[in-house]
Amino acid sequence: MTGWKSWKTYREDESWVEPLPKGGDLPWALFYPASYEVGSANLGMHHVYRALRRSGVGVERFFLGPQSPYRSVESDTLLERFPIITAGIAYENDVWSLMAWLQGASIPLSWKERGQCRGAPLVGVGGSLTSINPLSLYALCDFIVLGDGEVSLADVVARLRRGRGGREDQWEALSELPHVLVPPLWGRRGGPSSGPGKAQALEPPNAASAWVTPRCTFGKTLLVELQRGCRRGCRFCTLPRCFTPLRRLPFPEALSLLEKAARGTSFEQVGLITPEAGDYPEIRGLLERLTALRKSVSFASLRLDSLDAFMVDSLHRGGRTALTLAPEAGTEALRRSCGKPFTDELILQKARLAAERGLRQAKLYFMLGLPGEEEEDVAGMASLTESLLQETRLSLVLSVNPFVPKPGTPWGEEAFLSAEVYERRTSFLRESLLSRGRRRRISFRFASHREAALEYALGWSSSEDSEETLDRFLAGERAPTPPRRDQARRELERLGFFRSPHRENPADHGRCFP
Ligand code: SF4
Repeated sequence: MTGWKSWKTYREDESWVEPLPKGGDLPWALFYPASYEVGSANLGMHHVYRALRRSGVGVERFFLGPQSPYRSVESDTLLERFPIITAGIAYENDVWSLMAWLQGASIPLSWKERGQCRGAPLVGVGGSLTSINPLSLYALCDFIVLGDGEVSLADVVARLRRGRGGREDQWEALSELPHVLVPPLWGRRGGPSSGPGKAQALEPPNAASAWVTPRCTFGKTLLVELQRGCRRGCRFCTLPRCFTPLRRLPFPEALSLLEKAARGTSFEQVGLITPEAGDYPEIRGLLERLTALRKSVSFASLRLDSLDAFMVDSLHRGGRTALTLAPEAGTEALRRSCGKPFTDELILQKARLAAERGLRQAKLYFMLGLPGEEEEDVAGMASLTESLLQETRLSLVLSVNPFVPKPGTPWGEEAFLSAEVYERRTSFLRESLLSRGRRRRISFRFASHREAALEYALGWSSSEDSEETLDRFLAGERAPTPPRRDQARRELERLGFFRSPHRENPADHGRCFP
């Protein structure tokens, strides 16, 4: 009995898209705040791991489980052997998971405490959240890579190699970089003001997975990043504002990447990482090529108005039986206002198409609490769902989330709805749909208001809020206080956020900007 579970069988199941150097001179723990299965489906984790390996860094991966979270996947080495720890933070609530993981390893959570603790590791983060608002990580991290990691990673490695004299040297060296925030020095001497780093282009082989494993949540899947950013104008969404400009993997390069990967690696499916697959100009050609290669396909997201028989057939051929539709709101007026100008008839038409082409289920995504929402919008969700049940044979999963205002978005300054209103509206939806006697063909997934409130508080966190969050965490609370949005906005502007040009024009909602 060893008392811990080795990652050996996980290692054995991995196949590598290209050989990567082993060993390295800088022991570096790369952590993803979720399970191995979920982390293997995160392309950012693949990017960073591959880049570090190629730079000769001795990087090893850590996940929350199911094996030991404090031993590396590569060699079962204990976390305590790694003087550098970095984490990829994609979502606000991952901040909480990172704190819990560090605490479980008895690592002091704040940079202040670690600074006084001999031998404590340097803790850094990167990931999508740092393109929206990195300040929830302020009290926790020695350094935060802002924006696209590929812009800064090589320089971060060079500075850490240079600053091996000690923690202060490392802080100093990192603070010279334009897209790296070093919280311990921010108050003393200011910080970067150039905002998040932006990669110029998506380039193979960085646009694809580094490893493939059947344990990935998507199955034995090669992930390919087709597009980053979005030119649509949905007012609740961070993508058009925080992840500008839109970058696309050129079609010839996408094809050669896929063909090369298919020759050298065993995978069954290609997972297209792109905000809206239908907006990729050569999507049809790409899907045809995948069919010729006998690979199935999955899309991270497919906008309702891009859905046609060809796209549905591509999904169905790959074994998918469910389709995701995101009307977001219950009435046409509110949908138009939020940037999804879909009529009820269009939604019904797409659902009928999916049913006719052999799909069996539709997942419907709605938000509650969108600005301007009235009771009739909630009633509209119920009646649209009812029409879908009547007009198709699809079973429906109604997925409902509270609208969370995010910094940098046109609706970022709007109110976050209260738990009472959310509870009342979700009860109304459940009761009105179940009372119509359709229990067998409908199921509900109501997101937790508490988790959404945490997301809101962390999403709009200021540096001061971050200190309070840490205190609350240490006190065993998971109850956020309302964030100080004014302070967060001022601090983000100081860091150079919100400077990307964006045309906010209601007439453009739902269309691609030129
Ligand atoms: S279509 Fe709208 S919701 Fe989808 S990624 Fe683009 S802006 Fe966001």
